[in-house]
Amino acid sequence: MESTATAHFKHVSYLWDEKEAARYEGDQVGLLIYRSNLLGADLRLTNYGGGNTSCKAIASDPLTGKPTEVMWVKGSGGDLGTLKKSGLAALYMDRLESLKKIYRGVQFEDEMVELFNHCIYDLASRAPSIDTALHGFLPFKHIDHLHPDAAIAIAAARDGKKITNELFNGTIGWVEWQRPGFDLGLKLRQCLDENPGIRGIMLGSHGLFTWGDTAFESYINTLEIIERCASYLEEHQGKKRPVFGGPRIESLTPEGRKQQAASLAPILRGFCSSETRMIGHFTDDERVLQFVNSKDLDRLAPMGTSCPDHFLRTKISPLVINLGPDEDLSKPASIKDKLTPAFVAYRRMYSDYYETCKHPDSPAIRDSNPVVILYPGVGMFTFAKDKQTARVAAEFYINAINVMRGSEAISSYTSLPRQEAFNIEYWLLEEAKLQRMPKAKSLSGRIALITGSAGGIGKAIAKKFADNGACVVLSDNDEERLKSAEADFKKQFGKDVFASAKMDVTRSAEIAGAVKTAVLAFGGLDIIVNNAGISISKPLEDHSENEWDLLYDILVKGQFLITQSGVDVMRKQGTGGDVINIVSKNALVSGPNNAGYGSAKAAQLHLSRLNAAELGSDKIRVNVINPDAVIADSKIWAGAWAEGRAKAYGVKVEELPAFYAKRTLLNEIIVPEDIANACLAFVGGLLGKSTGNVLNVDGGIAMGFVR
Ligand SMILES: [Zn+2]
Repeated sequence: MESTATAHFKHVSYLWDEKEAARYEGDQVGLLIYRSNLLGADLRLTNYGGGNTSCKAIASDPLTGKPTEVMWVKGSGGDLGTLKKSGLAALYMDRLESLKKIYRGVQFEDEMVELFNHCIYDLASRAPSIDTALHGFLPFKHIDHLHPDAAIAIAAARDGKKITNELFNGTIGWVEWQRPGFDLGLKLRQCLDENPGIRGIMLGSHGLFTWGDTAFESYINTLEIIERCASYLEEHQGKKRPVFGGPRIESLTPEGRKQQAASLAPILRGFCSSETRMIGHFTDDERVLQFVNSKDLDRLAPMGTSCPDHFLRTKISPLVINLGPDEDLSKPASIKDKLTPAFVAYRRMYSDYYETCKHPDSPAIRDSNPVVILYPGVGMFTFAKDKQTARVAAEFYINAINVMRGSEAISSYTSLPRQEAFNIEYWLLEEAKLQRMPKAKSLSGRIALITGSAGGIGKAIAKKFADNGACVVLSDNDEERLKSAEADFKKQFGKDVFASAKMDVTRSAEIAGAVKTAVLAFGGLDIIVNNAGISISKPLEDHSENEWDLLYDILVKGQFLITQSGVDVMRKQGTGGDVINIVSKNALVSGPNNAGYGSAKAAQLHLSRLNAAELGSDKIRVNVINPDAVIADSKIWAGAWAEGRAKAYGVKVEELPAFYAKRTLLNEIIVPEDIANACLAFVGGLLGKSTGNVLNVDGGIAMGFVR
């Protein structure tokens, strides 16, 4: 069975491993989880977080000790690919069945969700999802409900029912579009009763139900049906007419696309952040380009998406912007003027949709800015409250493009009626889900670039910011150290919240590269932390001109150039910003052997004040932190410098922290975390009306007080 099965799948991945499955022999729940993980591993089978699976088996009732039938079904939230037992809800089948008796009709079906909780068998269950009844009322041991693009393409085609019937010779049933819920569960059962012997049901505009007596039979049935749908689409693709009517314009080169996207992203982010600060994502995936460059774009894009999962993530329709691929983007003000009418029109369309479709008890209107923005010749931007949501919105819109492409190849694409879309988007149960989401952190929606952040103070700042919800761009001139910081961040925060760029702060090209990395990864930039540094302490007679230049290049010119590049992005966004400069008590304290370093630090300090004076009208705040003697994990303090200092003071290197602490008013050792906390204080929301400040984080050194 296995080899023949493997051989005939071309559009889906056959991943079933007999040996692996044998480990769950007789354990239906284990097999359900195993199957679910295989299904979720192939995005052609279902979209991220989409679909659910179930099994029914006999278990012992803890209340009576007698055998009883239980259904395990994926609970609310989570993704099939990573489903674990904790993601399942387990319910008594007899109780679930008995709900049919008290069901009052479709206008009361939301109250049934509450009642699912009375059917819980396993008290460690995840909350039962809205799809519970869909699985519960079909009498099969194992059931898969997926959202495969290939099946939805048929489900959303104008004559999808006829196509399904012909393609599967009547062995796949059809249930017209209906919002998932108790009633749809009853409709599925009715479809089965009217068509005994069918092996699955297509849900109009939505997805697929398939099943089997065992986990394996369900798996193979699901794969076969999706494979059949996909081959059918492939046979018809481009036959009747070119895909999406053929291209209307050409794409720019890959480099040209990135360049245009990087120039435009901050402007778009500014528009999309008119209510809440958003994080962006950009893709120039070939499937996106084929769609955005096509003749059919103007007809299909406004229709919106079909599968509820798609439009919940992407909004009812995307915004197509009217800029040429090679539009000159060097004058942000004129580009903003050009784009303003499109955003105004989109917001009006969205509020009209809300006003037209709302019910007396509908939740308040949500953010009316677009999530998906299509730029013909260049690609697609998506904006959401965090990076993962923005990235997933892009993935879902690609799912939607796949569906439109398939539907158009075999028939014509239909989207959900606006009222149906609204009923899902503003469903009270969806609203309750949103209300249950954790509160936004203090730096949610913000993007920070920290120089010299592969270690020491810079890395501590980046971690603090990421911990508090920011997206961070790590940068350093030391590639090895940067790689290890990347690995560290990936492990601690996941892949979505950070990007990294090798950057020498004295090189304009590398600075431009790091800023471009930030903009392409997250859509813009809100916080710059100038932290990269170097220290050279020498008496006048030993201080070389090269050393002088190095100090001034890194500390002063570096701070200037990075601020300049960052401010350019902040001004395009028009949403203010923060510059934090990590200076030193040496900017204020005079001592011997420090002419180069101390004067460069003083220049950094005054440059900060000058910038604060210049940037206030843009709501860009510039503040300074003066640390002293932060030794832990610092490159400056590694090797010769620390040894030199230790020798000068007549102590051992390891005694330096305590030695420095003694020189402070508070007798404190200063660690990188202390500087990071000070940075958070400046940008975390409590000091929003402060600029041009100097904050010492040095344990208290009277000589370093600002006068
Ligand atoms: Zn579904």
